[in-house]
Amino acid sequence: MSGSFQITGGWVEVVAGVMFSGKSEELLRRVRRATIARKRVQLFTSHLDERYAGRFTVSSHDGRTADAIPVDSSQQISQRIDPMAQVIAIDEAQFLDAGVVSLAADLAGRGRRVILAGTDTDFRGEPFGPMPQLMATAELVDKLHAICVLCGGPASRNQRLIEGRPAHWDSPTIMVGGHESYEARCRACHVVPKRDDSQATLPFGVSSDMKQSSR
Ligand code: ADP
Ligand code: ZN
Repeated sequence: MSGSFQITGGWVEVVAGVMFSGKSEELLRRVRRATIARKRVQLFTSHLDERYAGRFTVSSHDGRTADAIPVDSSQQISQRIDPMAQVIAIDEAQFLDAGVVSLAADLAGRGRRVILAGTDTDFRGEPFGPMPQLMATAELVDKLHAICVLCGGPASRNQRLIEGRPAHWDSPTIMVGGHESYEARCRACHVVPKRDDSQATLPFGVSSDMKQSSR
């Protein structure tokens, strides 16, 4: 564990950030190091991650993988917890229900190290699922950044594109079917048009026409 202080008993760690910021890489690194330390580790991932090929794995965008137990609710995690596990790692935590917050606290209270990775904001830039509560109640939080594909600055937003165009604000938080794509962008380059007010999310002094023609 990083940090200059020692925690006795269990604790909760959160690895947050946008897509492509390296959360899965960091989660897999922590899992690998816990395994090297001969800890008993369990790795869970939500069903909604489509990056597995045949087996359920946690995959990072750089191609590293580890076998993971697929779940789509906090209840499924609690049913599948190995009572001997010392480290519980959960990827794609943003898709889980609010019960994951009390589950993490409960496991930490029983001496476990709980590591959760998740996208902290949705495509609108709003807090995503249980991530804000997890980040507020964890002992350790790391917020990672990707690289903005437009300007090269630190990216803190998930840009959703549908047929190459920025998705509207009223597009669903979780899309089923996978026709959308995502880019990592910074606050200034992130675009979320609103149907009734297309100017609302654009930076001051930039008209929606300018914004469209620069893409
Ligand atoms: P996350 O779990 O946060 O989505 P991953 O750990 O799966 O991230 O992937 C991180 C990797 O994605 C980086 O190490 C890099 O190789 C790659 N990558 C692709 N696009 C970007 C980007 N725009 N910014 C940073 N890394 C990117
Ligand atoms: Zn940018």
